[in-house]
Amino acid sequence: MEVKTSLLDNMIGVGDMVLLEPLNEDSFIMNLRNRFDHNEIYTYIGSVVISMNPYRSLPIYTPQKVEEYRNRNFYELSPHIYALADEAYRSLRDQDKDQCILITGESGAGKTEASKLVMSYVAAVCGKGQEVNKVKEQLLQSNPVLEAFGNAKTMRNDNSSRFGKYMDIEFDFKGDPLGGVISNYLLEKSRVCKQPRGERNFHIFYQLLSGASDDTLVKLKLDRDFSKYNYLSLDSANVNGLDDAASFRTVRNAMQIVGFMEAEVQSVLELVAAVLKLGNIEFKPESRVNGFDESRVKDKNDLKEMCELLGIEQSVLERAFSYRTVEAKMEKMSTTLNVAQAYYARDALAKNLYSRLFSWLVTRINESIKAQAKTRHKVMGVLDIYGFEIFEVRDNSFEQFIINYCNEKLQQIFIELTLREEQEEYIREDIEWTNIEYFNNAVICDLIENNQNGILAMLDEECLRPGTVTDDTFLDKLNTICAEHQHFESRLNKNSKFLTDHSLPHSCFRIQHYAGKVLYRVEGFVDKNNDLLYRDLSQAMYKATHSLMRQLFPEGNPAKVNLKRPPTAGFQFKASVGVLMKNLQTKNPNYIRCIKPNDKKVAHIFTDSLVCHQVRYLGLVENVRVRRAGYAFRQPYESCLERYKMLCKKTWPHWRGPARDGVEVLLTDCSVPTEEFAYGRSKIFIRNPRTLFTLEERRRA
Ligand code: ATP
Ligand code: MG
Repeated sequence: MEVKTSLLDNMIGVGDMVLLEPLNEDSFIMNLRNRFDHNEIYTYIGSVVISMNPYRSLPIYTPQKVEEYRNRNFYELSPHIYALADEAYRSLRDQDKDQCILITGESGAGKTEASKLVMSYVAAVCGKGQEVNKVKEQLLQSNPVLEAFGNAKTMRNDNSSRFGKYMDIEFDFKGDPLGGVISNYLLEKSRVCKQPRGERNFHIFYQLLSGASDDTLVKLKLDRDFSKYNYLSLDSANVNGLDDAASFRTVRNAMQIVGFMEAEVQSVLELVAAVLKLGNIEFKPESRVNGFDESRVKDKNDLKEMCELLGIEQSVLERAFSYRTVEAKMEKMSTTLNVAQAYYARDALAKNLYSRLFSWLVTRINESIKAQAKTRHKVMGVLDIYGFEIFEVRDNSFEQFIINYCNEKLQQIFIELTLREEQEEYIREDIEWTNIEYFNNAVICDLIENNQNGILAMLDEECLRPGTVTDDTFLDKLNTICAEHQHFESRLNKNSKFLTDHSLPHSCFRIQHYAGKVLYRVEGFVDKNNDLLYRDLSQAMYKATHSLMRQLFPEGNPAKVNLKRPPTAGFQFKASVGVLMKNLQTKNPNYIRCIKPNDKKVAHIFTDSLVCHQVRYLGLVENVRVRRAGYAFRQPYESCLERYKMLCKKTWPHWRGPARDGVEVLLTDCSVPTEEFAYGRSKIFIRNPRTLFTLEERRRA
């Protein structure tokens, strides 16, 4: 078989950035561009895979390609996501190491596609047989279901995931898949009620209206016309290249394969319909004698239909849109809602309903795909989560703050795992370690998550404080405490990451993230963190005869009235990120860094400035530096000898004696310069991949 030498081939740039000479941001980007122009969308930084989105389908994911990469060493063939998937799968199967695949990059960079490629590669190379195939099919088909409910068309991506996803795939000792567990993070629920210009609501709404039979729509009391619904944006309902009706069939089919009963599918669709109906309920003011305006439902038809769908008594829901019960200590008081409050309550209900439905779907899928009785052996986790989100024109709000916090944690894990592992291995192998200078972002994580005076803790404290709480009181608190903190830190000679320069616009704060400075506007922080749903509404939902609906609003059960505040959105997110990090820490990480070549969503265009921005945010050049600082490769003596013994007469066909000595004889015989390698206790350490590559070439010659 012909060996591709594209790791070094100058025509298409270097396949491994570790080999790049000279190394700087410009040469890095040039190399990416050069490769991209030659349809080479994958490039390595050591074992990290950089993936450029080609925005067109390339013939590189065929079954032949799978065969080509199967059971081959990582650096043998030209860079490919399959090489990473293969490496991860084999070390899971053969070396008993749990793996995780961490996929990052900004919106539209190709994370979700990459995660699906990894999953399908693993599905193609792992065990066969009826039962195993069923498990594989279910795992793969969970994707279209979650995408229908959790993805939407945005300005940056026609199929943008609006939630974070982590999936553990579990294997038995043979390496056959047993099942999986999915965790979801922070669905962007504000999208249910309102979408930025040029964007859409979640796919499922359009899919249902376009793809359901007339009969189904009649049952759901829906109209095919998108424009009838307040919650669906008008300007971009039809997206080029998206066939909503066909997708609806795919989703229905996928739900069936995953194991949803017909009645469950029906129930889910009824709730989707209920959200649309809810959005159409409008309010008008009614003057009261005391001079206040009280909200009344304007046209009761949608209200009536929603109540019919869910089996809720109309008067109960209607009342919940005009009054709210305030409970303080032992007292209950009823206060009226004005029109603005009624709209607020309606939207809060829609957002909660939809996001709880989404979480329910994840739980339901997990029930189906969870490993059956057999004991699980090894796990491969795949993380597809939003990358750093930094808007220059639009405001960065609570969502961006939370997303960026998550990325900060992922960067921390990257630093920790890569460097710590690296260092530990050097110590274990008794190889001299030269310290590598890198930017440690622990201070930024601490600024956000510290239990006493971290930003999230301060936000919670403010949200729970009695009295008038506004976004501005929160900001005041931040400024006071962080400024103090900063003063304290500057005495300790540490750099604070909370930036309080005087150029800050009104109502904003700025954080020095590892990816750059980000300006956040506090508007909405308190509200989004509180995520309040009036109890009257949850109680009304709990009164529904629709059993899924009741299940989604357990706090509406009057028997379980609980005066304790539910945990805030920030608190919940921090907790789930904590669990995720703990989970990742126990696994061997594999990185895929996705990059978007242009912001037009088109093929063949490579915009240097845009790529440069991402290369910076992903810290890629620094990544190469770290890799180069030490030894890029290591291999146990036995496997090294086994592979290359044919290159030397003294070691071929058998070397009698310790493998370490054999490798020494071999490398000396091949005239590999001594500064190129070091002898560890059990492994040979090779500084430069080029060395390995030369050996590979000679082996093939
Ligand atoms: P988001 O954060 O918005 O979810 P993402 O990083 O998950 O973004 P994807 O949805 O994976 O981005 O990719 C966006 C689009 O780019 C895909 O719908 C597809 O059209 C195209 N694309 C991505 N990767 C590839 C690939 N390897 N081959 C062909 N097209 C691709
Ligand atoms: Mg995605």
